[in-house]
Amino acid sequence: MIKITLLGTGGSAGSPQIGGADGGGDWGELDPAEPRNRRTRPSIVIETPETRRLLVDTGPDLRQQLMDCRIPRIDAVLYTHAHADHIAGLDEIRILNRLLDAPMPAYAQAATFAELRLRFDYAFKPWPGGAFFRPVLATHDIAPGQSAEILGLNLRIFAQNHGFIDTLGLRVENFAYCTDVVRLDEAALESLQNLEIFVVDCFTRTVPHPTHANLDQVFDWVARLNPRRTVLTHMGPSMDYRWLKENLPPGMEPGYDGMVLETGDTA
Ligand SMILES: [Zn+2]
Repeated sequence: MIKITLLGTGGSAGSPQIGGADGGGDWGELDPAEPRNRRTRPSIVIETPETRRLLVDTGPDLRQQLMDCRIPRIDAVLYTHAHADHIAGLDEIRILNRLLDAPMPAYAQAATFAELRLRFDYAFKPWPGGAFFRPVLATHDIAPGQSAEILGLNLRIFAQNHGFIDTLGLRVENFAYCTDVVRLDEAALESLQNLEIFVVDCFTRTVPHPTHANLDQVFDWVARLNPRRTVLTHMGPSMDYRWLKENLPPGMEPGYDGMVLETGDTA
């Protein structure tokens, strides 16, 4: 059994976005009175039965997300891709290094690490020991089509089409996390059979988007895969929580920041 915490369920700009008539935020079609429409950048934590925690992506809201979700420590990090909304909080790893008292085991594709090195070269320099005055990563390359053993979890990793680049999707037990995806190929769909919990990118309601799934695309995936529970993430300014809650079919629901999911509910 694993526990999953959705740290953030918003799009790359979060919701509300910077702006609005009074400068207090641009909510788009979202109801500002609904607290679950307040969304930070997409990220999750997967916790093992031994309370070891894998953080997936380090977005710009990471510091506040961990405290809001009462997560005191991280044992490893995995990057789905190197877009800013998934990596811009990398510097917070410095504090996570101190808590772990070690370089942070980090898992990503070689291409993602290459991007990260360009922007955060200091996090990749060898650690001389002593106090952590900067983030320190201990890198482990992973590749789609592989399995990876991380913190005792057996992860299945697969490629996802995100428009101009590929991202990594992951499956652990009967849980899958597919953020930043617009198309899934047969290999990915094969990895997503018999899911209990499917957390999936759904940025827009009706308008097709070049890099993110919309609701119609998610309906297609759900019809094919038939997961027991589908939870939407990476939601943009047309994805009002209440509207989704009332209009999605049984088995589908919008996620929200701080949502906790557990596999093996019926076991
Ligand atoms: Zn992205």
